[in-house]
Amino acid sequence: MLQLRQTWDNSHFYTNSDDPRIAADVDQLKVDIAALAKTCTPFAEYIDTAETITPEQFDERIAQIRAAHLQRTEISKRMGNLRTFISSILSVNSQDTSAKAWKPTLQQLGAEVSQVTTALDVFLVRVNDDFINALIVDPALEELEFSIRHRRKLKDQLLTVGKEQLVTGLAVNGLHGWGNLYTELAGTLKCMVDGESMGLAKAFNLLSSPDRNRRSEAWHGINSAWETQAETVAAILNAINGWRLQETKQRGQQRILHYLDESCHQSRIERETLDALMDVTYERRSIGQRALQAMGKVLDLTLEPWDLFAPAPAVDDDISFSFEAAMELIANAFRQLTPEMGDFAMMMAEKGWIDAEPTPNRSTGAYGGGFSEPRDPRIFMTFEGTMNNVLTLAHELGHAWHSWVMRDMPRYKTFYSMTLAETASIFGETLVRDALLAKAHTPAQKLNIAWADGMAAMTFLLNIPARYTFEQRLVEARKQGYVIAGKLKEMMRNSWQYWYEDSLASYDEMFWASKLHFSISSLGFYNYPYLFGYLFSLGIYAQKEKYGETFNHLYTALLRDTGSMTAEDLVQRHLQQDIRQPEFWHASLDVVERAVNQLEALGT
Ligand SMILES: [Zn+2]
Repeated sequence: MLQLRQTWDNSHFYTNSDDPRIAADVDQLKVDIAALAKTCTPFAEYIDTAETITPEQFDERIAQIRAAHLQRTEISKRMGNLRTFISSILSVNSQDTSAKAWKPTLQQLGAEVSQVTTALDVFLVRVNDDFINALIVDPALEELEFSIRHRRKLKDQLLTVGKEQLVTGLAVNGLHGWGNLYTELAGTLKCMVDGESMGLAKAFNLLSSPDRNRRSEAWHGINSAWETQAETVAAILNAINGWRLQETKQRGQQRILHYLDESCHQSRIERETLDALMDVTYERRSIGQRALQAMGKVLDLTLEPWDLFAPAPAVDDDISFSFEAAMELIANAFRQLTPEMGDFAMMMAEKGWIDAEPTPNRSTGAYGGGFSEPRDPRIFMTFEGTMNNVLTLAHELGHAWHSWVMRDMPRYKTFYSMTLAETASIFGETLVRDALLAKAHTPAQKLNIAWADGMAAMTFLLNIPARYTFEQRLVEARKQGYVIAGKLKEMMRNSWQYWYEDSLASYDEMFWASKLHFSISSLGFYNYPYLFGYLFSLGIYAQKEKYGETFNHLYTALLRDTGSMTAEDLVQRHLQQDIRQPEFWHASLDVVERAVNQLEALGT
């Protein structure tokens, strides 16, 4: 019988967190970062004359940039390996003291690299077009073309180098201090559930309990705990959003950038696309609402906010999987697309690139990541045999496949934005969901799978958009002044009402405090990229039949371009469609609607 390993083998990088080679590599990195700083220093002076640089100076500057680029690439590869190794250890054992000590050191080194290269990066944005056209012809620098040109779209938002460094420096203890305060609060806050005091993560898990009282107790416990911190979290949200508005104002001497345009730039999509996505989703909000109602009907209740993670009713003949059976099912589903994808999945397990064995002290959640050199992907999750575990594993294997098909490409062409990051994962998940559905024989088993579709529909089509609406209202309100906790509650209630309408019996007015996403200091509007990724991936999946045999070739080519194109160009080039138009999104929503129809049919 097939036996697969369920734990990582990272031993060819380092033996463990006490490996003396880690300290040696960190010391070498410090030396190399100092050398990189030396290469980049002259650019602080070149900036003043960047716009008037003459062709006679091109060769010398390009040679300097090539040197800096090669140094930075080397540093980031070795730092990437160290980071992945240390975080892998912490995922499996959050109490590993040496790994815990290395983590901040590595974060610090990362911050230093961005600081020493600021002058160069500002130069590349400010310099004239002729220079960039000459630069990207250089074989070593060609890989930077997309990212440089993309950053240059916000050329008019740039501050002086001194100010750029000041903003970055102050943000560490200013802006990011607020984000850290939230993380600290969420990690230490206790809540009472059924007379028992517990941390928020544990209480959060109870929201998926089959016992409704338990869910309700947990939800009320979590919200009462946040209620005691309401003014503190309000201060955090006001500080973060106030900071961003002030920074935008400082950068906007020539043109005030709208916060959504700024977010779209980060996401590498156009504002027209975001608007089309949100408008179509709102127009068809009844799909998510119907999913909620169908689930309520099965559970025989009108859903409340504490029922949003309720599991499907228990099934006597529930399908349970060994890790090996799950891998085989996934590999076979992947083979429907191409044999390589299935072989790749099996190889991940055989080589010890997946860590899924339930062990004490491991982190919750699942993620895909990987080493930088060689570019070997890694998956972390906890596998206990449920159907949801199988789907999670398929999701993470989809991510891994995405990086695998790009493994021969230059490093800077492999960095994709958040909007495109979920393309391959949800695609992989969808392939496996179809295979699971084919394997399910009884209506109860089928309902179990349709339930997962329903959960996705209501999360992506209602919950995520409600966060988006709330955040928009929050930024608008913050422009006018400080927003008190009472007002935040009211805004959250209204945002939920706008999307859920009467499909829920009440709304989660403390969601602005309990949801981490609003307090992430490094970026705003963290929510819609998930909706985008979900519908984008389904939209591409929907083309599978149409293209038949040639589809896989097309899909791989599309994945390979995710790091060097905007989403609009990507779809135009590979599928000849325009994602600025509602039609593209309607096609994806049709797929979701069919799944909801099925849930409704199974639920009666
Ligand atoms: Zn994912």
